[in-house]
Amino acid sequence: MQNYPIFVDLKNQPCLVVGAGPVALRKIRLMYSAGAKITVIAPEICAEITDEFDAGLTYHERTFRDTDIKGYRLITAATNDPMVNKRVSELANAINVPVNVVDEPELCSFITPSIVDRSPVLIAISTGGGAPVLARLLRAKLEAFIPASYGKLAHSMSKARDRLKKIVPIERDRRIFWERIVQGPTAEKFFSGRASEGELALDRALEEAANPDQKNIGEVWLIGAGPGDPDLLTFRALRLMQQADVVLYDRLVSEEILNLTRRDADRVYVGKKRAEHAVPQGDINQLLVDLAKEGKNVVRLKGGDPFIFGRGGEEIELLAANDVPFQIVPGITAASGCATYAGIPLTHRDHSQSCLFVTGHLKNGTVDLNWELLSTPNQTVVIYMGLVGLPTICEKLIQHGVSGDMPIALVQQGTTQNQHVFTGTLSTMNDKIAGKNVQAPTLIIVGSVVSLHSSLAWFDPTA
Ligand code: SAH
Repeated sequence: MQNYPIFVDLKNQPCLVVGAGPVALRKIRLMYSAGAKITVIAPEICAEITDEFDAGLTYHERTFRDTDIKGYRLITAATNDPMVNKRVSELANAINVPVNVVDEPELCSFITPSIVDRSPVLIAISTGGGAPVLARLLRAKLEAFIPASYGKLAHSMSKARDRLKKIVPIERDRRIFWERIVQGPTAEKFFSGRASEGELALDRALEEAANPDQKNIGEVWLIGAGPGDPDLLTFRALRLMQQADVVLYDRLVSEEILNLTRRDADRVYVGKKRAEHAVPQGDINQLLVDLAKEGKNVVRLKGGDPFIFGRGGEEIELLAANDVPFQIVPGITAASGCATYAGIPLTHRDHSQSCLFVTGHLKNGTVDLNWELLSTPNQTVVIYMGLVGLPTICEKLIQHGVSGDMPIALVQQGTTQNQHVFTGTLSTMNDKIAGKNVQAPTLIIVGSVVSLHSSLAWFDPTA
């Protein structure tokens, strides 16, 4: 190990910053937020520093002198004069005070890491000063992966520590308790911005720990799994999927995505093919309630977005009526996924100012849409579940005044390795796909934006 990592308590500690430009400002900000009493020495102090900190710092507006070095816990040199930086480093080292010279690792006795700040949780990343860009890259990854509300969770956990110690005397049991909290619905409440509900859940968990006979209720997570490519899952979807006790999924959810759920979770197929439901909708709704009441954390995985032609609303109505806690995670809907992966912008200033999402499959098996609305110029129409109704759709649009030359695309299994995009016009499309054995699911896009596909297509798994 090149360096020994520590976190230093700078509260009310005298610290010296030599230099007062933008680089110094960044260092001052961090030290200041850690509570340091900062003295700044520089011939010119930039206005940003005085504006931001005003009387919060001590300023000496002059060049650095050797005698300035005494009396500090930590010293930082951030001047643009290499001689001054070097001198500060020598003097500080001579009296054994830790010194950092910005961007000069060989003059430093300590270096400052890249940080992810979820105070009181603080993650420090260092590459020993040698590859700060790499540290920043890692930092960006962690920033994206660690919910902003981690700090709030950590704070609540630290408040509850003493109480838990009284309730659960054995250390190992306390560790199990905390593992359950940080990997379960309580933490998720914090992560979804509902800190006060999270506090309540933590309270309840503590009560349950005190009265272990009480049975707790699970939570249902209605999760949009996106159109197929597992990379299009959201961070929250993935996190919740990895905490599931049971997963209910239907046909649109691929094996690859299912494999990202917790390995020992039970999987229940409640599939759905066109007009053929493996489990009737009412039974699915009830199953979600029953499983949660058994104390299980249930993931209900849906293709695309649960609130777009996904019956997500129906499924959670019963949960709400039964006071089963639930969360909904949006997913990338087929329209967005297929359009982007086919290089067809759904709106475009030269083509289309609005976009309609409609379903081509009605309960009674007919296609009965508002054709007048669908035939409005300068818009894009996206039709879900439209393959069977395709001949009717083309015919009706032409009847309602849309040109037979209007471009139309059919995206088969969009975003997956089996994606195939068929394009044509309202007059030619049916003939074009005849005998092509088009595989469900497919999405239809009608509008002049489809003409952009030939130049903007970028995703071709067959290439
Ligand atoms: N909730 C889903 C839609 C469910 S309805 C969502 O938001 O995407 C099912 C229809 O979605 C299918 O008939 C098809 O039209 C469309 N669909 C879903 N995934 C698709 C995919 N990968 N490629 C093409 N169409 C898809």
